[in-house]
Amino acid sequence: MTQNTFATTYLDTGTIAHLPDRHFIGGSWVEGSSGEKMQSFDPGLATPFGEFALGTAADMDKAIGVAEKGAAHWRGVKPAERCRILNEVARVLRANAERLAFLECVDSGKTLAEAEGDVAGSARLFEYYAGAADKLDGRSVNLGSSHTAFTMREPVGVTGHIIPWNYPTSTFARGVAPALAAGCSVVAKPAETTPYTALVMAALLSEAGVPDGVVNVVTGLGSQAGAAMVSDPRVKQLTFTGSVGTGVAVAQAAAPNVTRLTLELGGKSPLIAFEDCDVAAAIDGAFWAIFSNAGQICSAGSRLLVHRNIRDEVLEGLVARARAIQVGHGLRNPDMGAINSDLHLARIQSHLDSAKARGCDILTGGNATTDPATGKGWFFEPTIIADLASDDPAVQQEIFGPVLSVQVFDSEEDAVRLANGTEFGLVAGVYTRDVGRAMRMASALDCGQVTINDYWAGGVELPFGGNGKSGYGREKGWEGLDAYTKVKSITLSNT
Ligand code: NAD
Repeated sequence: MTQNTFATTYLDTGTIAHLPDRHFIGGSWVEGSSGEKMQSFDPGLATPFGEFALGTAADMDKAIGVAEKGAAHWRGVKPAERCRILNEVARVLRANAERLAFLECVDSGKTLAEAEGDVAGSARLFEYYAGAADKLDGRSVNLGSSHTAFTMREPVGVTGHIIPWNYPTSTFARGVAPALAAGCSVVAKPAETTPYTALVMAALLSEAGVPDGVVNVVTGLGSQAGAAMVSDPRVKQLTFTGSVGTGVAVAQAAAPNVTRLTLELGGKSPLIAFEDCDVAAAIDGAFWAIFSNAGQICSAGSRLLVHRNIRDEVLEGLVARARAIQVGHGLRNPDMGAINSDLHLARIQSHLDSAKARGCDILTGGNATTDPATGKGWFFEPTIIADLASDDPAVQQEIFGPVLSVQVFDSEEDAVRLANGTEFGLVAGVYTRDVGRAMRMASALDCGQVTINDYWAGGVELPFGGNGKSGYGREKGWEGLDAYTKVKSITLSNT
């Protein structure tokens, strides 16, 4: 059982103290203009546990107006002071890690261990970008002796962040930390099923010294509060994480204002196990690549490409581990938590129903289930579908659940063709002992990140983003600052 004190109270009483039910605008809790609320559900129990404000276009208009003033103030704050405040944010987030991880777990359905990792990663994002705040220098450019020339990196102004439900805390931090380091202000709209951690984090940022109006959060529906944000010309950069369809709608809404845009969309990332790989490591890598966060990860390794000669051994190992997975309420820290909403659970089930109707070979899983301890909640069995053709919908479409599609290959060329054979291009994992092959694959794979012999290798320091329909722009790393800065070139005649 967990040591988290918030969790113990919640599991005993079913209640959560101090759950914010208003927007956070200008450093204060602000009632929504309509007064309407939405219910929030605990996916591990499929029961409501709180209410939050259903934001309107008027609420978003107010937040963006406040953020414009915030941007004007924050860009004038000395970089060294921004650095100090962002380091303080990291400290305050760590001091509140227990509460944040608890809220993230109940709101999203993930396990407490996963939520704790997300909170730690979020603190680390603020720390990393604190170190960047006072290093955003321009450069001196040589135009010859007739002129002096240099560049400056300036903040873009108000930035809008549309947050998804699978990583609410860390996606908030991933966009907000570099935006603040660069001197921008923020308006964030969390997903309608996971509103709380963004609200609590905004309040904690304020406590850490981020001035009023610099970080604002409006909750509500994507089609209302979200749509009002992405079409507003006062927002100068939009950072969107979510589905391809919504990403396209956001790009269309942003186009008339020529608003800068970072799109982090879905994926159908391959994990490629060659004949010469460490088979145990490949099984372990493939297992965590798809079953972490119940597969609700844009960069999940949702396609296993396995060499024909090791196919049986790899699948035998994977199926045994998948069948042993304990699902359950995230607060009890099982192997795998819940699916975030009943709507999404139904989407996953419909993918599997179609696969069954097509006669696909489902080696294990394939159905929705419940927490065995309570008989409640929105869960999906760990699922493996074998020997799929490259044009099968289970290979081409993002299912965004604990569902692994398996394809068999015979040669390196075959593996490259299959790996690059979807419209996505986020991550690819390669398992091989042959260094030359690993490097050839790294160059041939069309995606934003190639990991060799450790699927989840990475960190705050490493840029992340996709090719093709996985989106454009990069987050994290030094490259993550580009979206929030504009380069200005300045020349001076020396005559
Ligand atoms: P979605 O893309 O509709 O929602 C993501 C965010 O966009 C939410 O905050 C939502 O409120 C907001 N949004 C929706 N419509 C908007 C609009 N018109 N303008 C501005 N913001 C808007 O995703 P979903 O419906 O929650 O999930 C559907 C699919 O999205 C999933 O099956 C999965 O494939 C994918 N998804 C991907 C990621 C990722 O990390 N890339 C995250 C969540 C969902």
